[in-house]
Amino acid sequence: MNNILKQIEVIVGSKGILLGEDVAGRVDSWSQTSGCLAKAIVRPGSTQEVSEVLKICHSTGQTVVTHGGLTGLAGGAICDTRDIVLSLERMRAIEAVDTVNRSMRVEAGVALQTVQEAAEATGLLFPLDLGARGSCTIGGNIATNAGGNSVIRYGMTREQLLGVEAVLADGTVISSLSGVLKNNTGYDLKQLFIGSEGTLGVITRAVLRLRPLPRSCNTALVAIAQFDQLGQFLHHIDAALGGTLSAFEVMWNDFYTLVIGDGSKHGTPLEPTHEFYVLLESTGGHQQADQARFESALEQALGEGLLVDATIAQSKQQRNALWGIRDDIEGLVEGLYPPMTFDISLDISQMDDYVGDVRRQLSEKWPDSKMVVFGHLGDGNIHLVITVGSLEETTARAVESIIYQALGQCSGVVSAEHGIGLFKRAYLKYSRSPAEITLMRTLKRALDPRGILNPGKIFRQNSGAGTTS
Ligand code: ZN
Repeated sequence: MNNILKQIEVIVGSKGILLGEDVAGRVDSWSQTSGCLAKAIVRPGSTQEVSEVLKICHSTGQTVVTHGGLTGLAGGAICDTRDIVLSLERMRAIEAVDTVNRSMRVEAGVALQTVQEAAEATGLLFPLDLGARGSCTIGGNIATNAGGNSVIRYGMTREQLLGVEAVLADGTVISSLSGVLKNNTGYDLKQLFIGSEGTLGVITRAVLRLRPLPRSCNTALVAIAQFDQLGQFLHHIDAALGGTLSAFEVMWNDFYTLVIGDGSKHGTPLEPTHEFYVLLESTGGHQQADQARFESALEQALGEGLLVDATIAQSKQQRNALWGIRDDIEGLVEGLYPPMTFDISLDISQMDDYVGDVRRQLSEKWPDSKMVVFGHLGDGNIHLVITVGSLEETTARAVESIIYQALGQCSGVVSAEHGIGLFKRAYLKYSRSPAEITLMRTLKRALDPRGILNPGKIFRQNSGAGTTS
């Protein structure tokens, strides 16, 4: 064990540090097959320990990659042999729930699903929701400003936060843990850390904003014949439901047919012959009245020819089964191996042409390529999962250049909700101006002058440790 690790062990104790096989036996992200390359995995038990560890790293120039649930899709948690990992896995307490103020104070290593369940147990809702809910952590959700399935109603992670505690590279603890909703006392410092992907500080605790728990939930899967009608149907249903639309997830035919397959896993709630499928959900305050309004809004859409078929969930079990189709990323990846995933935003009016253009370019270059499309259409955000049979470097770059060049032509965004990490670093310039990137670098230098925090993620660093990564 080198000198730095010995100093760190004094702070976190022997169970707070993993070495050798215990490191190599872990991965940096769920999609990785090779082991973690870091020198050690450090597992502090408190903010104070995080601060003490970072003081040592800062003074010695030791680089640090923070790990949460490792469900990211942009390579933001990948390490090399010079790094140490700072894992928040021992800091997962729910410290307090305030039902009057509707807030919850948690440690950053707690899983999203644990937070959702704790909120529900007190009759409240934590509305952030995504497929990785069981593994992803609140700290990771904050560090990536995660989106997910409820953004159309409640906004991204940023909107669910009242306070954040983070430790700066030099060990300074910035405790912005105010639980109040309104706080205009100068710069809103917590915003600096939200979406910073571990490059500006280590998020250790947060005060989460909770909402009233809906008393009703209505869910349907509908089939739509043409792309234009998706937008028309969204407009119709949003207005008809009076602001209670809480999910509007679209699956292109290629997604639906691949996940449904022979029907043995999810059944066949609607025939796989339609162009588009929408999983929509509305939550409100009165089951009977809300259900009547939901059904009549769908009937009206059917009458106007916006839909060709629909099935409404009649029980919680049926609702979960419909969501199981949308959330079956595992099934998707099995059918599209090795997968490349993309997470882009663009104007809904340009989406159909964009998808058609990308599909044409891919099949011209790789006749056996496959692509499926799905996503949060109501937010202007779609995911593409593509396989061309190889993940080899030059092939991957060629696929990326098709995706992002076509996107640049319609002023789209290269990462809607997954972040930049390592994988999208070369494409940041497509979505951010030189002046914006310069300001990002200025912030990075101010908060982490030696460049020890998650080096090389989002953009390359000009000086300090990690320059070459
Ligand atoms: Zn998503």
